[in-house]
Amino acid sequence: MPLKLIRGDITKLECDAIVNAANSTLLGGGGVDGAIHRAAGRGLLNECRKLGGCKTGEAKLTKGYRLPCRFVIHTVGPVWRGGDNGEEDLLRSCYRNSLSLAADNGCESVAFPLISSGVYGYPKDRALRVATDEIVRFLSGSEMLVYIVIFDKKSFDIGEKLFGDIEAFIDDSYASDAYSYTLERRRAPVMMDICLEEAAEEDEKIDRRNKKLYQAAAPSFAGASADKLSASVKKEKRAPKNTLEDELNNLDESFSEMLLRKIDEKGMTDVECYKRANVDRKLFSKIRSDRLYRPSKTTAIAFVIALELPLEEAKNMLMKAGYALSRSNKFDIIIEYFIVNANYDIFEINEALFKFDQNLLGV
Ligand code: ADP
Repeated sequence: MPLKLIRGDITKLECDAIVNAANSTLLGGGGVDGAIHRAAGRGLLNECRKLGGCKTGEAKLTKGYRLPCRFVIHTVGPVWRGGDNGEEDLLRSCYRNSLSLAADNGCESVAFPLISSGVYGYPKDRALRVATDEIVRFLSGSEMLVYIVIFDKKSFDIGEKLFGDIEAFIDDSYASDAYSYTLERRRAPVMMDICLEEAAEEDEKIDRRNKKLYQAAAPSFAGASADKLSASVKKEKRAPKNTLEDELNNLDESFSEMLLRKIDEKGMTDVECYKRANVDRKLFSKIRSDRLYRPSKTTAIAFVIALELPLEEAKNMLMKAGYALSRSNKFDIIIEYFIVNANYDIFEINEALFKFDQNLLGV
């Protein structure tokens, strides 16, 4: 099952376990720790008192008390001291230890705040990268739904350079789109006139030819009846060769068929593919077993990214599910940006979509 980046208050989340960014006393503090203790009530503090604290990088489990989750996993993140003091390793072990504790206690869903990224000062972009890395590594061998909960949008400013680039890309695309739109509008009436003229000419040619044919075959008939015959010949000429049923029985390769073909061509396994797409097994089996299954746009794109398709193939596969990448909405432009730059890291793409308040890929 996949990783989901969401915005919100972790104390409100209904899942098997939430993770607390605690301090080593485990007796409550500020930030997310304070919020969790307030929402859980005194029972949590009483249980925490019996745990004898917790070392940095380690994790301990309690019940959830008045929280909507079954368990709280308390982990102690490192204080940021410039990055050369083992902070990253310690932060990684917070995620690893919390996840293995969750798995040992049968949790199917667990939610993390961005550990250490508040009072402990770990830069948010790096904290998010560590979180994503460790969770994805864990999910490659386990089935669990893992949330990263981002609380504070304003202070959440990740990957300045990457986002600067995307912003420029969005601006350029909007600009070039606006430009071609104006051109199109200017050209449109002229082009329409030309088309009408051409069509009229073509009709006249057909009329003349039909009249000639008719007169050659039946010289005693002329005038109005020639016109009538000419009209009926025209109609016949335009009648479709296939019936609608024939056409419907002759569908192109579907989205699901192309997906399975591409998985084979890339030498991937199904599991590799749906994990890379951040899609869960159930949804994948649905798509696999129904050749006409129509996935949501975010799911369709998630598979395009998992398969690392270049832009044209990506557009082709999306079209099979009934979608396009337009240049007039941010979501599509962000996706195109990553594909054009051959960056198929779905979690990085989701960070970018998240930053620009767009729907995320996968489940
Ligand atoms: P730390 O001491 O590990 O830095 P903090 O609680 O100060 O822990 O902050 C960790 C992260 O948790 C910060 O990014 C902060 O914005 C976030 N946070 C604070 N309250 C909540 C909450 N109710 N739900 C989710 N995240 C929260």
